[in-house]
Amino acid sequence: MKRPTVVVLGAGYGGLSVITKLQKLVNADDADIILVNKNDYHYESTWLHEAAAGTMTPDAVRYDIGGVLDKGKVNFVQATVENIDTKAQKVITDRSEISYDYLVVGLGFEGETFGIPGLKEHAFSIANVKAARQIRDHIEYQFATYSLEEVKDPSRLTIIVGGAGFTGIEFLGELADRLPELCEEYDVDPKAVRILCVEAAPMVLPGFDEELVEYAVNYLKSKGIEFSIGTPLTEATPEGVKIKKGEDVFEDIPAKTVVWAAGVRGNSIIEKAGFENMRARIKVDPDLRAPGHNNVFIVGDCALMINAQTERPYPPTAQIAMQQGAHTAHNLVALFKGDELEPFTPDLKGTVCSLGENEAIGEVFGRKITGKKAAMMKKVIDNRALYILGGPGLVFKKGKLNMF
Ligand code: FAD
Ligand code: NAD
Repeated sequence: MKRPTVVVLGAGYGGLSVITKLQKLVNADDADIILVNKNDYHYESTWLHEAAAGTMTPDAVRYDIGGVLDKGKVNFVQATVENIDTKAQKVITDRSEISYDYLVVGLGFEGETFGIPGLKEHAFSIANVKAARQIRDHIEYQFATYSLEEVKDPSRLTIIVGGAGFTGIEFLGELADRLPELCEEYDVDPKAVRILCVEAAPMVLPGFDEELVEYAVNYLKSKGIEFSIGTPLTEATPEGVKIKKGEDVFEDIPAKTVVWAAGVRGNSIIEKAGFENMRARIKVDPDLRAPGHNNVFIVGDCALMINAQTERPYPPTAQIAMQQGAHTAHNLVALFKGDELEPFTPDLKGTVCSLGENEAIGEVFGRKITGKKAAMMKKVIDNRALYILGGPGLVFKKGKLNMF
C-alpha cells in the first residue's frame, strides 16, 4: 500500500508541534511528511511585542526551522500557501501544488480590524517578525525626526495603542522599558512623550482577575502610560485617531504611531478555501478535524473550540496551539493504523502577562502572582516552548536565561 502523504501548513506553535511530535512517533517509511511555511524560520509570536518595542532584536525572536526537523523524515518546503483545494486534496502555493492524503492547517492569526475605517492604512499590527521590525523602526524614525526638526511636532512622540487585551498590555510594558533608552539615544525629553492606551471595554484586560488588573494598571501608570477606558477607537487617519468618548462625543488625537492590538482572527486562507468559518476560524470537531473533512485537521488560531463550562470560545493561545499540535500527531498515527481518534481537551495551566522585562501579573495553577516572581514565571513558560519544540540546545541558543 502507498504510504500516506501528510502536509502540515504553517511552522508556528501549532504546526511545528505536529511536526516535532510526529517525527518522534513514526519511522521514515511510515509516511511522507511535508512542512510548508512562508519563511525558513519560526518566530515566537508570543515575543513579538518585544521586537516591536525594540527591547529584543527581530533576530532574537526567530530560529531556523531546519534546526528542529528530522530531515530523514520531514521534507521542508519554503512557500506561501495561496489556497487549499479540499476536493482535489491539493495545496496551492506560490511555488508549486502539493497533493496530500492528510492535511493539517496551522496558518495562525491575522489582525482583526472589525471594519474600522483607516486602520488597515494608518495603523500597525504586531502580526509577525517583519511587522514588528517595522513598528520598532517607525518609532525610532519618529524620535530621530523630532530631535532634528526645528518646529517640533508633538504627534511624533505620541504613541496610541488600540486595545488593552494581553497583546496591548504586554506591548505597553515593553514600551515603558524602552522609553528611557529611546529618549537618551535621540536626545528627547521624556516629558514630551505620550503613550496612550485606548480600550473599548469598561476595564483593562476584560474578564481577567480585577486585583491583578489593578496591579498592572498602577504599574504602567507609574511609568507614565495613560489609559482611556470605555472609549472605542473609531477611526485612524494619517494624522492620528478618533475615539468615542460618549454618545455623539468624539475626540481626535494626533499621533504619528498607532499600534492596533485589539483582536485577532484566523488566516484568510481559511475563508478563501471555502471552509465554513467564523472570522477565518473553523469550529472544529472534538478530534480537531474540520467538519465534513475527515482528512483535514485544524490547529492553533485557525481552530475554534467552545469551552463547554463557559459556553464561550477558548482564547486563541500558543498554550492551546501546542497541545493541539501534539494531540494531532497522535491522531494522525491512529489514522495510519486504522485506530479510533481521541477527542482533544485543553489542559489550561494559567496565564502570565508580562509588563516589561522584570514585571508581570499572572494566574498559574489557580494562584495569583505578580512582580519579579511572575516575570520569572513568564520566562520559564517562554523557555518551555523552546524546549518542547527544539530541546535543551534551542533553549541555550535562544532562551531567556537572564532570569534573576
Ligand atoms: P502562528 O504562531 O501565528 O504561526 C503561523 C505560521 O504560519 C507562521 O510561521 C507563519 O509565517 C505561517 N504562515 C502564515 N500564513 C502563511 C501562508 N499563507 N503560507 C505559508 N505560511 C504561512 N499565547 C500564549 O499562550 N501565551 C502568550 O504569552 C502569548 N503572547 C502573545 C503575545 C503577542 C504579542 C501575540 C500577538 C500573541 C500572543 N499569544 C500568546 C498568542 C499566540 O501567539 C498565538 O495563539 C499562537 O501564535 C498561535 O499559534 P499558531 O501555530 O496557530 O500560529
Ligand atoms: P484580545 O481580543 O484578547 O483583546 C483585544 C482588546 O481590544 C479587548 O480588550 C477589546 O475590548 C479591545 N477592543 C476591541 N475593539 C476595540 C476598539 N474599537 N477600540 C479600543 N479597544 C478595542 O486580543 P489580543 O490582546 O490581541 O490577544 C489575542 C489572543 O492572544 C488572546 O487569546 C490572548 O489571550 C492571547 N495572548 C496571550 C498573552 C499571554 O498569555 N500573555 C499575550 C498576548 C496575547
